[in-house]
Amino acid sequence: MSALADRLAPWRFVAAYLRTRWLARRLRTRDDVMAWQSGRLASWQRRVLARVPFYRERAKGPFESLPVTDKAMVMADFAAFNGAGVSAAAGWTAFTGSGRVGRYIVGASTGTSGNRGLFVISEAERWEWLGVIVAKTLGRLARARVALILPLNTRLYEAAGRSGLIALRFFDLNRGLADIAGEVAAFGPDTVIAPPRVLRYLVEAGVAIRPRRVFSGAEVLDPLDREVIETGFGVTVREIYMATEGLLGVACARGTLHLCEDVVKFEFEPVADSDLVVPIITDFTRSTQAMARYRMNDLLRLAASPCACGSPLRAVAAIEGRRDDAMTLCGPGGEVVVTPDVLRNAVVDADRRIDDFRLVQTGPKQIELTLRDALPEEAAAAAAAALARLFARLGVTAELRLSRVSGFTVSARKLRRVERRVQG
Ligand SMILES: [Zn+2]
Repeated sequence: MSALADRLAPWRFVAAYLRTRWLARRLRTRDDVMAWQSGRLASWQRRVLARVPFYRERAKGPFESLPVTDKAMVMADFAAFNGAGVSAAAGWTAFTGSGRVGRYIVGASTGTSGNRGLFVISEAERWEWLGVIVAKTLGRLARARVALILPLNTRLYEAAGRSGLIALRFFDLNRGLADIAGEVAAFGPDTVIAPPRVLRYLVEAGVAIRPRRVFSGAEVLDPLDREVIETGFGVTVREIYMATEGLLGVACARGTLHLCEDVVKFEFEPVADSDLVVPIITDFTRSTQAMARYRMNDLLRLAASPCACGSPLRAVAAIEGRRDDAMTLCGPGGEVVVTPDVLRNAVVDADRRIDDFRLVQTGPKQIELTLRDALPEEAAAAAAAALARLFARLGVTAELRLSRVSGFTVSARKLRRVERRVQG
């Protein structure tokens, strides 16, 4: 990358946009998708992977021989996984300062301290990401005012963007929702991309916006929130599956979440005792930091059949939470892992009036259920009984404590209704 390439980087937006639109027409069958991926992967392995220290030798072998990686592995030797020579130390310094190392942009994932992941991308990659997301959300190019309300954790997107028909503005969630809400209303977006808790906040706080397109991203979209948001805005919420690791899925007009297999290759690892899978991703559009066979922390339920919209991109029935929020409890034959979706359904299905809750494992046997003060006693008792029945059925020992709060605060932190806070 040269300074000239940086100056030309905005053209990557246009190129990525046009490519994504072209692929949406050209890729018609699963075979088309596989052929496109294998062609791109082969050249990516040669051009990009071979220049990244960790892969210098490994990139020569077949794709299947590459090791599966994860956040811990990448963070243990950050410099080995990017071709820009950025070390973790330099990355963290830049993250708290200018947000840049040389020409590269550095950011970090939200997460508990000690569990945050760094990422490094180029100016061109940042525009590439935007081009793909605009193509997949807006479709045909038309006049649009897009508000992206996200925990940015990078200075990457501070500036407002405007290219012809599209006005794009980023609102950094780390500044606090109350601060942002007025600015969002003043901007008057017709398209809003935000985490579901933020969309719900905008509805419940009565922020004066009338978006025609609403996208939920950056965390799990619970049907509880979907209902409030759709009723409030009067439009269907479309889900975007995004992570620090990139843009991974976007829902089609029918509301089905399709994986972005035109930019990322997905493999799936089954989760024991459940019908969920953990995705292992290879992002063959990135060139600075190598993301090859990288195991995500998400639990997906794949759709049993293709979507009626006709897209050959794999459909996902639901993102069910994070792998490390699955609770580990003691059963007669040893550890039993209970995934967040099972726990969530037990609580929510217990009584129709439960429209929010938190369920946290705080110790090997300790589980805390928090509900709103306003919820009637019998609904709370029904939730506790449903969990007790679930634990009995699984044969696990758990001590459930029930507490009440006047309301759940909406913070910059990622919302996890089901959470595991014990180590080991
Ligand atoms: Zn579809």
